[in-house]
Amino acid sequence: MKVFKFGGASVKDANAVKNVANILSLYKDEKLGIVISAMGKTTNAMEKVVDAYWNKSESDFKALIEERRTFHLEIMDELFADSTLLIYDEVNGILNGLLEKFGGDISDNYDFEYDQIVGLGEVMSTKIVSAYLSYNGMKSKWVDARKLIITNNKYREAELDWEATTSNFKSNFEPEFEEMDVLVTQGFVGSNNGSTTTLGREGSDFSAGIIAYCCDAEDVTIWKDVPGMLNADPKWFDNTVKLDKISFREAIELSYYGASVIHPKTIKPLQNKQIPLYVKSFIDPHEDGTVIQASMISDHLIPSFIFKMNQILFSFSPKDFSFIVEKNLSDIFDRLSKANAKINLMQNSALNFSILLDEDKVNTQEILDLFGDHYHIKFNEGLELVTIRHYDQATLDRVTTDKDILLQQKTRETARLIVKQKIMI
Ligand code: ASP
Ligand code: MG
Repeated sequence: MKVFKFGGASVKDANAVKNVANILSLYKDEKLGIVISAMGKTTNAMEKVVDAYWNKSESDFKALIEERRTFHLEIMDELFADSTLLIYDEVNGILNGLLEKFGGDISDNYDFEYDQIVGLGEVMSTKIVSAYLSYNGMKSKWVDARKLIITNNKYREAELDWEATTSNFKSNFEPEFEEMDVLVTQGFVGSNNGSTTTLGREGSDFSAGIIAYCCDAEDVTIWKDVPGMLNADPKWFDNTVKLDKISFREAIELSYYGASVIHPKTIKPLQNKQIPLYVKSFIDPHEDGTVIQASMISDHLIPSFIFKMNQILFSFSPKDFSFIVEKNLSDIFDRLSKANAKINLMQNSALNFSILLDEDKVNTQEILDLFGDHYHIKFNEGLELVTIRHYDQATLDRVTTDKDILLQQKTRETARLIVKQKIMI
């Protein structure tokens, strides 16, 4: 069995869904487990539904649901010639069920309510795609991921019960392939004691990893609107190059530093069972894409660049002139955890401790208040953090043209630089 994952962009309209069916038809002789995200920007739209529900604004709530109804029905009208098909009742039923929720009991747990609503985007998209595949004569069946993927009750960031999940897949998923060729299920969702949970935004890649792990799949393919994993985000970088083959380790390193092609949690289950992961283009499905697998031989061939913009660098130095040693360090970390700071890079010297944070996630005044009694604080905004894997002098020069370097860290494989655009006078 192979696992395929199609994200929101690959099912964003009727033509996209038809394209998915075309890709599947290239794999006629295979058993396919298909993981699908919500259509287009539906998850963002469903988040607005949650907020309207939570804030008890009935007219917004209704309007947002009707907007989702129109969106999905338009896609269905293009896919199916017959509006009496069961799929129409199913999608309308899901949205009507949601409408009926309003005014009923609401818990005091926002994250719980969020998961009960947002995951319905995936339920609708998979129902529609599965119905379309059957409509085109494929032996396809819709499977409810909430009955298979079992998690704890950390809503919006649920953690997996691997044992229960594996046993569910063994007894309630794999046997379906005796009759069916394609099983279509939802990314992103699972359940805890019968209530829907979600695995975190962009979690459908992870769902594909979970299914592959539980079923010992032959391989996983994530179908995307890019030709594979590139060595930089084209948004920040000209002349990007595709990485043909990289190791699981390299993929984890790249996502740790901020490359956003695959959800970071996806790799571990695949690495643990040595299941290769392909990243391929749904626009050119015959092209090779990138393969992520065990061998590290090709990792160093192409340098990769990861950019984080809008960074803020804080430097703390103890007012009493004491060294930055263990005692000060643990005091600094204590204070930082109070501010919920997620550190992108840190460095210390005798009298200075510096950290780099995302500007939009930090409250500068809060940091100043938290540290002001004991430390002198300096900060510098509008910075960029550039990480280069497999760097050399030429790549360092390339990212520092017209830039001042405020700080740099190099290991054998990785260079990290905090830079600021030079001000030209
Ligand atoms: N639909 C969810 C999201 O947009 C999960 C995913 O697409 O991976 O975050
Ligand atoms: Mg997505």
